[in-house]
Amino acid sequence: MPTVSENYVDGEWTVSETGETFAVRNPAEPSSITGRFQASAPGDVEVAVAAAVDAQEEWADTPGPDRGDVLKRASELLESRKESATERLVREEGKTRSEAAGEVQRAIDIFAYYAQKCLDLGGISKSASGRNTDLYTKREPLGTVALITPWNYPVAIPAWKLAPALAAGNTAVIKPASAAPGMTALLFECLDEAGLPDGVANMVTGSGGDVGTPLAEHDDVDGVSFTGSTAVGTSVAQSAANDLKRVQCEMGGKNPTVVMPSADIDEAAEILGVGAFGTTGQSCTAASRAIVHEDVYDEFVEAVVAYADDVAIGPGLDDPDMGPHVSESELESTLEYVELGQEEGATLETGGERLSGGEYGDGYYVEPAVFSDVDNDMRIAQEEIFGPVLSVIEVADFEEALAVANDIEYGLSASIVTQDLTEADEFVDGVEAGVAKVNEKTTGLELHVPFGGYKNSSTNTYREQGDAGLDFFTSTKTVYRN
Ligand code: NAD
Repeated sequence: MPTVSENYVDGEWTVSETGETFAVRNPAEPSSITGRFQASAPGDVEVAVAAAVDAQEEWADTPGPDRGDVLKRASELLESRKESATERLVREEGKTRSEAAGEVQRAIDIFAYYAQKCLDLGGISKSASGRNTDLYTKREPLGTVALITPWNYPVAIPAWKLAPALAAGNTAVIKPASAAPGMTALLFECLDEAGLPDGVANMVTGSGGDVGTPLAEHDDVDGVSFTGSTAVGTSVAQSAANDLKRVQCEMGGKNPTVVMPSADIDEAAEILGVGAFGTTGQSCTAASRAIVHEDVYDEFVEAVVAYADDVAIGPGLDDPDMGPHVSESELESTLEYVELGQEEGATLETGGERLSGGEYGDGYYVEPAVFSDVDNDMRIAQEEIFGPVLSVIEVADFEEALAVANDIEYGLSASIVTQDLTEADEFVDGVEAGVAKVNEKTTGLELHVPFGGYKNSSTNTYREQGDAGLDFFTSTKTVYRN
């Protein structure tokens, strides 16, 4: 029997006022329910926000080192459960064992990182014109914040919002995505055992409409940090703007990797293959457009098709190269894009078939797909597919490659594979993306540097992670002290 998870509100595990739950299924074996969660209502949000507001002043007054101790203990508790957390993540979201272990480790590291930041939230000291004046800045917490997260990194993203929010003295209510809320519940088990005071962090599960919207629009919420699709993020940003509420939305991507003639083509194929098919293509930073110079186009297509054909697919617990999609609807969406690409006139070089029966059972598996002869104005080249589908676009020279890379509404992560340093520098300078990489895949982030997108990938006002991750959750006060 699956366990029934409860909301975490004011330091207690509680059931929703609706008395209803929803099920989460194992994407590798959909007949198996991995957990049930509260199908909450706006009234549950009301109670959680009230608890967070009540707790805020005292948490903000708690000395930084004491806040840091709680975060550090939470990190240690998660570390002590790393193995079981990894398996839970595999079962709930479909990642491979290696991908899940990496994500759990990232959450552990993020809590440890922001525990340390509690000792030094930053601020500057300057010389004043007045003789006896001390002139300095201090960071103050924003207040009570709403955190809304997606399913594709269901422990790392909640961690990279919760940890800086709490480190800076805010209280929070988080709404995790319904496809994989169990990992956020696990974080709350750790925070609870770590001694987080009641009301400081609260979790309410449920749908976007019943929980996400009332949370984001709540009058007592001082800021909304959202990660998810551009469509939902845009509406969250619009409603926050109406209330003059601080908002940060990190959204979709359609990330290019340019391949130039000086590249080692096998290396380029691997960079694109890992970037496009890792996490089953379900990363905001997934490589989905290979923009390839005509001199190496045929060679590249052959190499990346060979890479795709070699991808081992199966249940995440066996640690293959690629696991299933998270849900039937995500699988269906990928299959529809594979169909669409062919209708648009691109050449399906390999993959794109659903895998079922035998070892795949009725899991949400699909073969990685490679399209060649793709024009950049095709929908498969412009829309975020969020599945293991790579579009290969041929270009005549570097100028065209850069123009194609930028000819898109998104601007999250971009990379170039080249041995030419001047070309690499011109790409870094010219590409319209929040993350620019040279000879690396578009996926993969370091936790201590800023992360966020340009254009429709982000509201582009604040960055997440690193020191920058504290900016959204704090206001700067300038002090003149005579
Ligand atoms: P989604 O937009 O469907 O949902 C994100 C969250 O918003 C979920 O918790 C959802 O329940 C909630 N939500 C839905 N409707 C809402 C509403 N009207 N008001 C408030 N909240 C609402 O996204 P998803 O399918 O969970 O995640 C995939 C998307 O996330 C992709 O587009 C991906 O690129 C993006 N993503 C971006 C980043 C980044 O840092 N840029 C990272 C990971 C994922």
